[in-house]
Order: sequence, then structure tokens, then C-alpha cells
Amino acid sequence: MQDIKELSLGELEEKLLSWGKPKYHARQIFSWIYQKGSYDFNSMSDLPAALRGILADEFYVLGLSLADLKKSADGTVKFLFELNDANLIEAVNIPTAKRATGCISSQAGCKFACEFCASGLKGFKRNLTSGEILDEVLYLKNNLKDAQLTHIVFMGTGEPLDNYDNLLKAIRIINSADAFNIGARRITISTCGVIPGIKRLQEEDLQVELSISLHAADDNLRSRIMPVNRKYPLGDLIKCCQEYVERTNRQITFEYILARDLNSDYSAAQKLVALLKNLRLAKVNLIPANPIPKSKIIPPSESEVRLFKDYLFKAGLNVTLRKERGQDINAACGQLRLKYEQD
Ligand code: SF4
Repeated sequence: MQDIKELSLGELEEKLLSWGKPKYHARQIFSWIYQKGSYDFNSMSDLPAALRGILADEFYVLGLSLADLKKSADGTVKFLFELNDANLIEAVNIPTAKRATGCISSQAGCKFACEFCASGLKGFKRNLTSGEILDEVLYLKNNLKDAQLTHIVFMGTGEPLDNYDNLLKAIRIINSADAFNIGARRITISTCGVIPGIKRLQEEDLQVELSISLHAADDNLRSRIMPVNRKYPLGDLIKCCQEYVERTNRQITFEYILARDLNSDYSAAQKLVALLKNLRLAKVNLIPANPIPKSKIIPPSESEVRLFKDYLFKAGLNVTLRKERGQDINAACGQLRLKYEQD
């Protein structure tokens, strides 16, 4: 049996034609799965019964099952999913009054081993298929009560640009008016700085948002806390970002987790300003660190955060401070899976 979500609309049309069926059924099937949220071909009442039977023999819709769920007092819900080979991934629904952001994983485990991230602690398992990425989105959408799933961020487990083809195939379905119909500008790819992936992305006809986990503005420190920097050092990364901005005319957001005695002092702020001041269309998003098990990362004080932000602002950088959601349920990336696997 095959995951039907692995097929683009065009591929599903081809499949129907190969069975001697009209291709317009592909749009109906897409609507049932991605818009009405159906997991069951037998419920697709406007399809002929014979076609429903063939679909049920050949395909399945949902390829994961819920292993655990945690609800935060602030409404954030974190899902731990088991894939059909028993690997675990997680996804988070972050609702506001009427809208919700889905935080989605792109890989089972991660090979990049960033110091502040629990996802890297257990190593890399495998890439998710495009169908598994879409499983997360579908499950999150179906589990919202009052809010609409309007935004997607690839900030869960894994490095999205390290699973480029499956990621892009899933994003095109997330973006498609025949499927989830979530605007490209509401889809954010967050990378640790995988330069070949950024270069490929700038050639796509897709207006997605790009976010780069920076967390340090000098090579020594960044290589220590983000080993990817040894392969793609800051000079090369910023040059690549300059090309991306020139090619796409789109803003890049730089994520910067602030941790005490690491990257939150005056000198770190100066280095950050020097690194980004000539980059047109850059925004810095400051995130005060959460405590992470088995890591030396210490959350900063409120005054450290304020001083750092003020320095960047006065130097002319576009800077925001992100409020962490779901802290009481370990909603920082990788933490629920790790807790579960340690139990
Ligand atoms: S921050 Fe992203 S790239 Fe780094 S270890 Fe975590 S999941 Fe991997």
C-alpha cells in the first residue's frame, strides 16, 4: 500500500487515467483529504463506489499514529507521533484566537547536533517522506477546534533543507489551492545555515519565508555551538544571504537564542551588528533560552535581554523579541521526543 499524499495533483491525475478513470476525480480526492480532512476513502461520497474500492486497496491516507500529546496552559498543543517504522517525530499547534501556526518536523532525528537543541542529542534516523510531512499538517489541522491553521513553520525536528526534495514537494501541496491553500508567505523554512539548500531555494518560484538559526556572530563560538558552521562558516553564509536577498528581494529572519555567559553580552551584540549591518532586508528575532536537559545553556536575565535588544535597535537593526509558547510542556524543539524516549 502506498501513501496517497506522496502524489502531487498531476501524479494522481495520471494514476486515475492509468486506471481508465476521469482525472477530475483527483481534485475531489484532494479536497476530501486536505480540505475536509478525511482519512477514509469510503467517506468520499461523491466518488463512484468502484473507485473508492480501488483507492482503498492501493492507498492509505494517514501514515502516523499519535503516541503522546501535551497541552500547555497557553493553548499550545504538542503532538508526539509514531511513524510506521516506529520512529518518533513531533509537531506543535500554536493557536491564537482565530489562527494557528503549525510547527512541523522534516526529519526523524537530526544530524546537525546544535548545542541548544534536544533534537540533535539522539542523532539522525531518516528523512521524512513528503507524505509524512503532510501527515503532520493534516493531523494538526484536524485537531483544531476554533482556530484555522493559517501558518506553517518548519522548526520541528530536523533540518528542512537537508531533506530538500521531500520538503518542497510537501510545501507545494500545503500551498496549493486544491489542498491546504496556505499562502507561501505564511510558510517559513528554518535552517541552521545549509548553504546549498538556500541557493536552491532562491531559484524556486515560491515566495516562502526563510529563517536562519544564527545564535552567534563569530566563527569560534558558532562552530562550537552549531557544528554546521565548520562546513558553512559565517562569511560564506552571509555572502549567500546577500545573494538570496538580491535574487528574491525577500527578507531573511535571523533567529538568535540568547543564553547567559555565552552570546548575550555587549561584545556579542557588537559582533552581531557588524555581521548584519550591510545586509539589506534582515530581521533579528531574539529568543531567550529555555533550560535544556544535558546542555549547559542557561536562560538570560530580563535585563540582559533588554540591553541586548536595545543595542541592536539603536544600531539600526530590525529586531523583535519572541515570547516562547508552551514552556510548561517542553515545546522547544525536540524536547518531548527526548523525554518520551528517556522514560
Ligand atoms: S536546531 Fe535544527 S538543525 Fe540544529 S540540531 Fe536542532 S533540529 Fe537539528
